[in-house]
Amino acid sequence: MQVINPATEEVVASVEATSLDETDAAIGRAAKAFTSWRALAPGDRARLLRRFAGLVDQHVDELAGLEVRNSGHTIGNARWEAGNVRDVLDYYAGAPERLTGRQIPVPGGLDVTFHEPLGVVGVIVPWNFPMPIAGWGFAPALAAGNAVVLKPAELTPLTAIRLGELALEAGIPEGVFTVLPGKGSVVGQRFVTHPAVRKVCFTGSTEVGKQIMAGCADQVKRVTLELGGKSANLVFADADLEAAAAAAPGGVFDNAGQDCCARSRILVQSSVYERFLELLEPAVREFRVADPADESAQMGPLISARQRDGVAAYVDGAEVAFRGSCPDGRGFWYPPTVLAARSTADRAWREEIFGPVVSVLAFSDEAEAVAMANDTEYGLSGSIWTRDVSRAIRVARGVEAGNLSVNSHSSVRYWTPFGGMKQSGLGRELGPDALASFTDVKNVFISTTP
Ligand code: NAD
Repeated sequence: MQVINPATEEVVASVEATSLDETDAAIGRAAKAFTSWRALAPGDRARLLRRFAGLVDQHVDELAGLEVRNSGHTIGNARWEAGNVRDVLDYYAGAPERLTGRQIPVPGGLDVTFHEPLGVVGVIVPWNFPMPIAGWGFAPALAAGNAVVLKPAELTPLTAIRLGELALEAGIPEGVFTVLPGKGSVVGQRFVTHPAVRKVCFTGSTEVGKQIMAGCADQVKRVTLELGGKSANLVFADADLEAAAAAAPGGVFDNAGQDCCARSRILVQSSVYERFLELLEPAVREFRVADPADESAQMGPLISARQRDGVAAYVDGAEVAFRGSCPDGRGFWYPPTVLAARSTADRAWREEIFGPVVSVLAFSDEAEAVAMANDTEYGLSGSIWTRDVSRAIRVARGVEAGNLSVNSHSSVRYWTPFGGMKQSGLGRELGPDALASFTDVKNVFISTTP
């Protein structure tokens, strides 16, 4: 597999795709390694994860540089992403000694519960956030005592491969965490069908996620799905409009819009619609699209020519309100683009574009805003801009999405839960509860009858 720098179209590396036989062999080694990994004293497992976090910390700049070249992420974002892997490892390194069960009162004996690890967990990662999404799967899975096989996306395997090396260097035993670059239809599919893989943790498109879920049903395999989104940014007339307009480009164009949480539908109360667009225009024009290695870049290229062409197809025939600029020449560039939607039936309004394109539409009142926000099969994220606290709470409770922010576009903190409602996903990652989804509860009754 050739790895291309999306900012220059140059070949960065070439990576051997794992074959089906090699995948089976790796899963076999993981199943064997699981036996000793789960038996390791909790404090020792914690220490190894902390050491892994420490090594990631020492290599933040190297990993970030690799991501800039492989994925075209801005250097600022890439540093955050590598730091996120460190933080998620650190956070879940606190888990092994705290994975406590319960003692439940019963007559005639003692009843206790255990959180048993599942076995081998298969983590399948998309190309848009190669490092964080990998870490959200492997860190809690390892902490709970599972072995992990991880498949990075075909386009972006380099940082995952490096993380696999750092894990070994940290002393995580061979076979406990294995990175298997390769095709979804070969390696990823084998995670679904191999009986030793007891859970699949999938992040990617809703279409593939549905196939994975259906495939996992055959073995009643556990599954976590983090899928697509079409999140709403709701701007009410009583909001701080300057702040809402200044933040809106970052809320959708970050990572060139290739973000499942991108606020790609802006809904503005009709009384302030014109004013909001006046404020939004300069913010979009000033959004700096540049060489992602440049410290001042706010956005880099798209991941591939195919992705860029797909994004452009949504804009053809739509009404462009205004747009920013981007470099010419080699690289998969596309300018930040704002569409004046005609109606909620527009294709660009309804479908996940996964690029730097946002549609804007007006709403009349709170009820209509919530109804429009919910008029989608997705339910991942969203933002509410208002100065009225009661409205903020009402709307946050009304919008069907797993991660909402008020007067902000923040979605992800490693210590709070993340995941989607409706067709945006199943289960939650990060935060205190994610560990539970990498274990099964076992109940044991011990008779005290003499
Ligand atoms: P994709 O579904 O094409 O691929 C995702 C991963 O699945 C890749 O590693 C791919 O190789 C693998 N895969 C493909 N077919 C497979 C199969 N049949 N069996 C097993 N594995 C298979 O998605 P993508 O284009 O890489 O990523 C973009 C999508 O990911 C977007 O829809 C985006 O919204 C979604 N996403 C969601 C989240 C979230 O947390 N909800 C985060 C990031 C991206």
